[in-house]
Amino acid sequence: MDTIFWFRRDLRLFNNFALYDAIEQGAKHAVFYITPVQWKNHGVAAIQVDLLKRRLVYLGNLLAKHGIKLHVLQSDDYQSCVEQLIKFCAANQVKKIFANKEYEINEQLRDTQFLSLADKQDCSVYLYDGDLIAPPGTVTTKSGDMYKVFTPFKNEWLKQHQDSHFYFKALPDTFSEIEWIEPELLKSDNSSQKWPVDDESLSHVIQRFIDEKLSSYKESRDFPAIKGTSGLSPYLALGIVSTYQLVAMVQQQHVDVLTSAKSNLFTWVNELVWREFYRHLLVAFPQLNKYQNFNQKYDSVQWRENEPEFNAWCEGKTGYPLVDAAMRQLKETGWMHNRLRMVVASFLTKHLLIDWRKGERFFMKHLIDGDLASNNGGWQWAASTGCDAQPYFRIFNPITQSERFDPNGEFIRKYVPELKNVPDKQIHFPHKYLASIGCDSVYWPAIVDHKAARQRALDAFKV
Ligand code: FAD
Repeated sequence: MDTIFWFRRDLRLFNNFALYDAIEQGAKHAVFYITPVQWKNHGVAAIQVDLLKRRLVYLGNLLAKHGIKLHVLQSDDYQSCVEQLIKFCAANQVKKIFANKEYEINEQLRDTQFLSLADKQDCSVYLYDGDLIAPPGTVTTKSGDMYKVFTPFKNEWLKQHQDSHFYFKALPDTFSEIEWIEPELLKSDNSSQKWPVDDESLSHVIQRFIDEKLSSYKESRDFPAIKGTSGLSPYLALGIVSTYQLVAMVQQQHVDVLTSAKSNLFTWVNELVWREFYRHLLVAFPQLNKYQNFNQKYDSVQWRENEPEFNAWCEGKTGYPLVDAAMRQLKETGWMHNRLRMVVASFLTKHLLIDWRKGERFFMKHLIDGDLASNNGGWQWAASTGCDAQPYFRIFNPITQSERFDPNGEFIRKYVPELKNVPDKQIHFPHKYLASIGCDSVYWPAIVDHKAARQRALDAFKV
């Protein structure tokens, strides 16, 4: 075998430079490890595992057409995966292993252990930074420190990359076709079926977004009833597409997208840079992997322990229609609109004063795009404990957020059908209206009073 490629969350053939180098070195085999215990410990959502399995089936078949055999192996956790892969390499005379880095602490530990064992076996390991345009540690202040505010990070990111020409690269034609039999391990429960996994469909989704939605993204991105965002997060989370590829595709049509950072078009790329920012943070501040506050001055906030209220939030039964619609969207589809993620995270941490860590874990367990760096970043932003976070005294009002971003209640009606006959004006907080027509039992009573809850949060954070 001599050379192999080790797939992780980089399940793509486009712009996978580590894979191309492996192939250039003659790799005809690739491996992927299913690690159910590790994933369970990390709270990975079943729907994300399903997407991953479906993608692996697609990839296995496609690689076989290029003469590369994908071995899907299983080990409980990273420790046993390292031991097994070392044995696999010894048994098959593997001398070179290519892979893309993952930046979370357990993944880094796995790689350190693997490197040391591989070294003893005279095996060379080549790790690439394929997940990001700017690898962690490359966008720093003049003194080499990590930025603690996004805007200067973005400016430096741009300075380094705005003159680069990003290009689109596909897997080169390699060896002649081989047979690949889908392993039993990849049996899908089809929960992610609504998300296509083949490259043709994905390219179409990306191209349509660039052609039809990119220029209006700035105006439409905050309205959950409009499909104004790309919906690519599940694919980015598993490395099925990369930021590099996306920027390359935008640049193909808008050459100056990176040099005109104030333009509407850049607004979307700006979000990809947020993704890079959160990954940089995860590496620069490893405590973020361990669910610690970024800003330790909030360690003394007295979070409330209240299981019934937490459950009401999880189930979408808080009596605040936008919050409930959002939580039900998450449970029903495995995905939630960004505006709503901010609203529900703020509601949990400020209105209910429940620890952001509980919300973060719940999100991970249900999100198809669950991703430690972005999820942690988003939660700590909303809870005001994070890096460049929302100040603690800015507390979203779930009713005015609803009036602003779902003015006709279209999104609410979709996920909270019990309110479908409530007039637009009343739908954002329908209790008085429902009482006036003698129907208050159709919907949940408000779990907290907005004003009182806001004050309680302010007091708790001030202390
Ligand atoms: P688009 O608006 O089309 O953006 C394109 C891509 O940019 C996204 O796919 C994503 O990769 C990246 N991106 C967009 N917004 C952000 C952001 N605020 N932070 C980091 N990257 C961003 N994103 C995840 O991918 N996984 C998570 O687990 C996750 N958890 C979140 C939790 C909270 C509390 C909050 C507030 C945000 C979270 N986000 C997370 C960020 C964001 O909500 C999603 O990336 C976005 O909603 C995905 O939809 P889209 O692909 O249509 O995004």
